[in-house]
Parts: sequence; structure tokens; C-alpha cells
Amino acid sequence: MRGTFAGNEVGAGAAVRRERPVIAIDGPAGAGKSTLAAHLARHFGFLNLETGAMYRALALKAIDHDLDFEDEAALLELAGETRIVLKPQMEGNLVLLDGVDVSRRVRDGDVTAAASRVSVHPRLRQWMVEQQRALGADGGVVMEGRDIGTVVFPDAEVKIFLDAAPEVRGNRRYRQGGPAQVAVSEEAVIRELKERDARDRNRAESPLRPAEDAVILDSTAMGLDEVLAAAEEIVRTHLAERKG
Ligand code: C5P
Repeated sequence: MRGTFAGNEVGAGAAVRRERPVIAIDGPAGAGKSTLAAHLARHFGFLNLETGAMYRALALKAIDHDLDFEDEAALLELAGETRIVLKPQMEGNLVLLDGVDVSRRVRDGDVTAAASRVSVHPRLRQWMVEQQRALGADGGVVMEGRDIGTVVFPDAEVKIFLDAAPEVRGNRRYRQGGPAQVAVSEEAVIRELKERDARDRNRAESPLRPAEDAVILDSTAMGLDEVLAAAEEIVRTHLAERKG
């Protein structure tokens, strides 16, 4: 059993070898991280954890409590009274906020925008990171987010940074939009995605960037099958090396 992680010890703590690996998938919004993470988890029999859903769940509670998204102290206090549970499913995660299933609601536009703003706060990120480390401590997980390979698990055994040009990501998002998006133009989807990217990349605390030892997969000119196959190969190679 691994102990709890304090501060930044996890980076130095790689001496304790997990029985099963942590697969970190990072990248900007709309790159296809969730699809890839769900696929790898199914394929290799790992748990799939979508960390963005935790930021979304807290953002939803902040909306319901009419909180100011800039008020870190209030958000942190709210977090202290909040229980967020992710239940891995075949496709994505079931998200329970204080015991209530909010899996669909957290995907709405207002929550998406709020999550992007709430996630800039350093102390709130620390609260999230501690929980994410506890969830993945035993390995056997595909964890997806923005800072998994750089901050949450700098010692992750496999790190993939999935990227694509903003226009391509926006177009894919627009096409998967569903009923909630009928009134929104493709340009608006791309604009919103670029705004979220800019906030993720430019925040002071754990900005979105590839870890130095991440494999970068740019899916701009790749089909989904190619991306899945390339990532599968990266994980398979790691598992073979572990055995060897
Ligand atoms: O991945 P998803 O779009 O669900 O994430 C929602 C928001 O949460 C993102 O816009 C991002 O700002 C934030 N996030 C983060 N760090 C993570 C996961 C998500 O800052 N590890």
C-alpha cells in the first residue's frame, strides 16, 4: 500500500514501483483525449479517469451556489464540503457530485466555461491533484487531463500528449455537438475552444504543456483509428519492456 502523497514528493517517489502503470494523457480541449483514454482503458483492462470531470463538477456546484469564479477562497471552502466521485464506465466516467449523478449536466456549455475559469486557481488545483494522486496511486489507470504527466503523476510510466490544430479540434467538436449545440455555429465552437486553450496554456499554476518525456501525437492529419493504434503501440511497448 502506498502512503498519501505530500507536497511534490510524488516525483521523487518513483522508487516505489507500481505493479501496474499510470498512463497519462494530456492535451488541449477537443483533441480526442477522452476517446483515446476510454479505448486504452478497455483495451488493456485499466481504469479510465477523466480529471476534467472533477473540475466540471466543482464548477457546477459553484454555479448552483452562485459563487464568483474569481473568488478562490470561496471556491476552496466549497470544495471542502464537496464529494466528487468518478466511476469509470466503458465510455467515459459517471460523475457523482455529493451523491447525485451529474454526468450529463457537467457537459453543458455554462459548466464547460465555468470549469475553465475555476481551474486557474492554484490552491483549488492542489485540492484536485491530491485526490487524483490518491485515485491513481496503485496504477492500472489511464488518467486524462491537462497536467497529469507534468504535475499529478510526473513519474507516470507512459505519457502521451495528444494535440491537433484548433480548427480541426473545433470542427470535430462541432460535428459531435448533439442537440445542445444546434444553435451554435462552428466558428463559435472554435472561438470558445481557443479561449479555453489560452486560459489553460497561460495560467501561472501548472499550465498546459507537454511533459519533457511525453510522446507527442499530433492528430491534425490522422484518422481516429491511426491515433488509437499509435497510442496502443506506445503502451504495448512499455508493458513488454516492464515484463522483460
Ligand atoms: O477535459 P475537460 O474539457 O473536461 O476539462 C474541463 C476544464 O477543466 C478544462 O477546460 C481545463 O481548464 C480544466 N482541466 C484542468 N486540468 C485537468 C483537467 C481539466 O485544468 N487535469
